[in-house]
Amino acid sequence: MTNRTDFPPPNANQQAFPPPAAGNQVNAQNIQDALEKAVAPKVINTSNNKNDGLNKCPRCGSTEISTQPGTGMLVCHHCRYVFEVAVAVFKDPKELIGEAIGTGAGDITIDETQVTIKCQGCGAEVVVNIEGSMTSRCHWCRQVLSLENQMPNGAVPDVLLPFLLSRETAKQHIEAFAKKRTFYANSHFKREFTTENIIGVYLPYMVVDANVHCDIRGKAGDVVRKYTVGSGDNKKTYYDIDLYDIGRDFDLAIDNLTVEASTDKLNVNNKMNTNNIINSILPFDLENAVHYNGNYLKGFNSERRDTNINDLRGLVDAQVRDVARFKANSTATKYDGGIKWESQDMDTKGSQWLSAYLPVWLYSYMQVKGNGQKLLHYIAVNARTGETMGSVPVSIGRLLFVSSLIEVGLLFLVIIFFLFLVF
Ligand SMILES: [Zn+2]
Ligand SMILES: [Zn+2]
Repeated sequence: MTNRTDFPPPNANQQAFPPPAAGNQVNAQNIQDALEKAVAPKVINTSNNKNDGLNKCPRCGSTEISTQPGTGMLVCHHCRYVFEVAVAVFKDPKELIGEAIGTGAGDITIDETQVTIKCQGCGAEVVVNIEGSMTSRCHWCRQVLSLENQMPNGAVPDVLLPFLLSRETAKQHIEAFAKKRTFYANSHFKREFTTENIIGVYLPYMVVDANVHCDIRGKAGDVVRKYTVGSGDNKKTYYDIDLYDIGRDFDLAIDNLTVEASTDKLNVNNKMNTNNIINSILPFDLENAVHYNGNYLKGFNSERRDTNINDLRGLVDAQVRDVARFKANSTATKYDGGIKWESQDMDTKGSQWLSAYLPVWLYSYMQVKGNGQKLLHYIAVNARTGETMGSVPVSIGRLLFVSSLIEVGLLFLVIIFFLFLVF
């Protein structure tokens, strides 16, 4: 075994810090000011100073606007004008310096679910229960009022991705998914399965961009010789491996890292199976996200964000480190003897946090087991890509029947497969 080193040339844009200039008057207050300036996050205003109330058709002024099925555009029901909100464009992650936070991603400080909107049409004050809907009809002048203002209750995000898949297309995806699993499904489910009640829901996510520098070190093995000794049962294979010190030092731009922003989804609880399902229909085409506009929510449900950026930092950091290790590995493929990273220093130069609503079609089924225990099953469809994942209640009888037919070795694989069906 030999020890060698494999370090790339030092990064050209790395700079040594100059020594502080002599004679510069420095006092404690200046340092404090400088620190605060450096630490306070920048605010990205995504509100466009919109107010709650009438969000009108640009052509005729009607408020009867909703998402056009199959295109993700908005359509006016009065004049049939089809239009869209501009795609939200933000800084290239490579250019991020310091922390920036969207006005819709700020900390939640109030827990209001009832919002009073003043109708600009007639002056009436209308109460909207935002747990169920983000829009309401003025009971005097019949115009539709929508919540647009990003108040600190997590209800209005910075951006959203409109529903692209129509209800009909989502139904077909869900039916095809269930049909493939019919053989193992329990009979109650087969009798009761219908896609008539599927619901379109905007789920809350936090979308993170980051500009990080990674310095990662460890050991890498290079197989120089492979040989076998002995014969028959005593045959053994040996490897001669050169061991290298390995180091990688690089900049990394993270674009659209997506994490769930609902406590319900983050917690490991009885709904965990659902979370796995929702995660497995990622990714979304976030490059097409538009600025929030309440008209997109008409006809759909939405779930309010209830976590703050600080609750999600640990999760995001872990994912960024994973991405960095993955990148480092991709630059060291010549080492066929394996790599063991021993240290990983991450320096976040800049980051950006935006809250987003992402569109999902949901089919749900409540299974009541023999002992009265209830288990909620879901089939979820990514309403942008059509990616579908879910669980259906299985028939134990079918499982046992199939199990008895297969050998023990295979059984293990089959159990894993069924666990996947159940969870
Ligand atoms: Zn119109
Ligand atoms: Zn009114």
